[in-house]
Amino acid sequence: MVVPVTAAPDCLFCKIVAGDIPAEVVHTTESTVAFRDINPQAPLHVLVVPRDHEPDAAASAAADAAMFAEIATTARAVATGEGYDDYRLVFNTGAGVGQTVFHTHCHVLAGRAMTWPPG
Ligand code: AMP
Ligand code: ZN
Repeated sequence: MVVPVTAAPDCLFCKIVAGDIPAEVVHTTESTVAFRDINPQAPLHVLVVPRDHEPDAAASAAADAAMFAEIATTARAVATGEGYDDYRLVFNTGAGVGQTVFHTHCHVLAGRAMTWPPG
C-alpha cells in the first residue's frame, strides 16, 4: 500500500484513502485513488482523489504538478474503462460553488446528456 505523505486527521477522503472508511474503489495509482460517489449524479460518477491531503485542486497542483496531471489521466482511464469516451470533470472549489469535502477530488461524470452552462 502507498502511504500518503500528508493526511488530515478528520478528513473523510483521507480515511477512504487509508482504507479506514469503506468505499467502492475502481482504480488506484501511485498517487491517486478513484472510488464511486455515494450519491451518484450520473450513471458513472467516480471521484478521483490524490492520496496526499490538500484542500482543493489549486493547492494540489501547487504541491505536486505531476500528481495533479495523474488525476486527469486516471479520470480518463476510469471513464474509458467503463465504456465512456465522453465525460465531464468537475473540481468544485469553495463552499460557495458546492464544495463539501475539503480534500481535493475530481468528479468524473458520464452516461447521460449534460447541459451547459452547468447548474
Ligand atoms: P463536493 O460537493 O464537490 O465537495 O463533492 C463531495 C462528494 O463526495 C459528493 O458528491 C458526495 O456525494 C461524495 N461523498 C460524500 N461522502 C462520501 C463517501 N463516504 N463515499 C463516497 N462519496 C462520498
Ligand atoms: Zn484528506
